Amino acid sequence: MNETSTSAQSGSVPAQARIIDLAEHGITADKIGENARWVLTRLEESGFEAYAVGGCVRDLLLGRKPKDFDIVTNARPEEVKRLFRFSRIIGRRFRIVHVIFHGEVIEVTTFRGGDADQIARGSEGMITRDNVFGRIDEDVFRRDFGCNALYYHPGREQIVDFVDGVADINARRLHMIGDVTTRFAEDPVRMLRAARFAAKLDFKPTAEVERGVRQCRDLLTQVAPARLYDETIKLLQGGQGVASLFWLQRLDLLEPLFPELDQALKKQPEGIERALIDGVLQATDNRVANNLPVNPAFLLAGLFWRRLCAAREHWLVQRVPPDDALILAADEVLAQAARNVMIPRRLADIIRSIWALQSELEHHCGQTGQRWRVVNADNHTSTMPPENLTEAKWFRAAVDFLCLRAQAGELSESVCSFWRQYAPERGAQDEPVVAALTAEDFGKGKPRRRNRRRSRRRG
Ligand code: ATP
Ligand code: MG
Repeated sequence: MNETSTSAQSGSVPAQARIIDLAEHGITADKIGENARWVLTRLEESGFEAYAVGGCVRDLLLGRKPKDFDIVTNARPEEVKRLFRFSRIIGRRFRIVHVIFHGEVIEVTTFRGGDADQIARGSEGMITRDNVFGRIDEDVFRRDFGCNALYYHPGREQIVDFVDGVADINARRLHMIGDVTTRFAEDPVRMLRAARFAAKLDFKPTAEVERGVRQCRDLLTQVAPARLYDETIKLLQGGQGVASLFWLQRLDLLEPLFPELDQALKKQPEGIERALIDGVLQATDNRVANNLPVNPAFLLAGLFWRRLCAAREHWLVQRVPPDDALILAADEVLAQAARNVMIPRRLADIIRSIWALQSELEHHCGQTGQRWRVVNADNHTSTMPPENLTEAKWFRAAVDFLCLRAQAGELSESVCSFWRQYAPERGAQDEPVVAALTAEDFGKGKPRRRNRRRSRRRG
């Protein structure tokens, strides 16, 4: 590792940066994805500075496959857009450019400036608009954690490290750049990112980060519900859902997201509810590990199932007919869940279907008309399930869910094995793929035809 300020070797990187050469870090330029490398080269050839940055550099140092490649440059968004025909400027709070390829979008950001006065803030210090541009040595202090603040230059095959990010990675440490409470107040979502990276990377948040989260966690309720939904799905559906829930609870971050669920799990840390939620998260983690599509509605149906049962019971006691009790309870529980975190309507509809199918499936196993009936193996072949059940749109997901309930000890395993005859374990193509977030969720409608055609072509 050498500390250098020589511009020949390090472009405009100032003296404080540590430049780490290939011999030490071992990441050759071909480890950067082809599309990202093409964007980087084009920016450089047009006279701009450009680096791969953030998670991709961190993941390569850890020997992991990067999820995506982010690029940072001194070119302004308009200048980037002009260089790439198939690109668009997105975002208001942060304006960034998406360069669009077949099946991949490369995100290009412009170095953020560090002048605190020029950044628009809300009353609690939250950054509301951030389009002040700057240099690399300012940009680095706008990033969240040391491990996410490394810049890689593929031409020189060098890593630029201003904040001892490599040391953080070697120590598996999640260390916030700057004063933790100021940084969490600027953007409370960074607290959820702390939980996500602790789970995903198996890094330990520093004591300051843990303390900062405890101090600032209530600020999360001020974040836009759509952004909280996006980050919550990344946490729970990113492949480390079980570990993410552990960290959410350890940092006491479940409360600002889903207060009722948090309370229930605190009251009964073990038991059926916990077992079911762990089962649903584990099933999701397994599917992600096997590259199978995951359905966010399935996950959310699991998180709130026991809340639903409690609410339904309340209505049943009041002599409300069972079907109506379910509808009322579902309305109540989903409205409660969506108080802080958005739950898109199209997902709420799927959740309702999965929930509604549960009692149907329990009724119709083996012999009809008997609730909570334990079916013995001999009955299986004698009774055909009603066709409207097996043909229901979310039948397979509902059976999977039923089996997770059985696994959690809520009902007999034989109910699960009865329905498994009609709905073997889901594969990749069994059900429509459900997107976690679409433009329609924000009321933006479908992309216009012209854009849709464009987005299939190369950047
Ligand atoms: P992942 O593996 O999930 O993609 P990542 O670290 O690349 O992780 P991104 O959300 O893709 O995360 O963001 C890219 C980089 O942008 C981060 O590594 C970090 O440097 C910076 N960044 C993203 N979100 C924030 C934030 N809320 N506050 C500060 N810096 C951020
Ligand atoms: Mg990334």
